Amino acid sequence: MSGAATTVVEFDAVSKTYPGGVAAVRDVSLRIGRGELVAIVGPSGSGKSSVLNLMGSLDRPSAGRVFVDGHDVASLSDREVSALRATRIGFVFQQFHLAVGVPVLDSVADGLLYTGMPMRRRRSKASAALERVGLSHRVHHLPHQLSGGERQRVAVARAVVGGPSVLLADEPTGNLDSAAGTAVLTLLRELNAAGTTVVVITHDREIAAELPRRIEMRDGRLVADIAQSTTIGAPR
Ligand code: ADP
Ligand code: MG
Repeated sequence: MSGAATTVVEFDAVSKTYPGGVAAVRDVSLRIGRGELVAIVGPSGSGKSSVLNLMGSLDRPSAGRVFVDGHDVASLSDREVSALRATRIGFVFQQFHLAVGVPVLDSVADGLLYTGMPMRRRRSKASAALERVGLSHRVHHLPHQLSGGERQRVAVARAVVGGPSVLLADEPTGNLDSAAGTAVLTLLRELNAAGTTVVVITHDREIAAELPRRIEMRDGRLVADIAQSTTIGAPR
């Protein structure tokens, strides 16, 4: 899995020190190829979210270089970084982040605002994305009318509606009970099987053990990067 065409995210000796001096990421190099499904694991405070934010160009490294789809993020203007993020990266967070009072279909369609597509087209793509996550029967619901698991599936639909190069999920099951969490993980695996590159942070060792590649963080360092066999629980 090497070469620019197949690499979606690359870190070259990346460090991140926050103002105040916390060295959250220390000299991390890695490469994530198109079509991969990767777990990032590690204790709280080990730098997982910082790594994901750097992958998603939400933040810039203090040292080293981050490439997304071959673009050196540091060489782009703020405007170009925003465009890169909007078109190539889908985010899912623990807290869902769905706008209060906005129907599900519109929340997902808003994921395409950057495209300038007419609303009808955005809605029709949103509808297809909601079908992919199994929520065709909920398109007119409001977030507060949904379970946590359903809300997270809406967030996943919004993240993938534009066909991003990579889906970045930060503890997507952290606010869910285990059944709903398993369903969200199954969904991520299905999206991956259909071609989406997925990076998921989890502190759940069982979940991490079932994914094909596991990156372990400790004190800001990458301490293990392991390919795992995934016969158990693999999507059929
Ligand atoms: P994890 O996701 O593994 O829990 P984080 O990447 O959130 O770890 O945090 C790594 C370290 O960086 C922690 O010590 C945390 O307190 C610190 N940190 C994270 N974000 C910031 C920030 N915006 N400003 C200052 N320190 C931060
Ligand atoms: Mg975190």
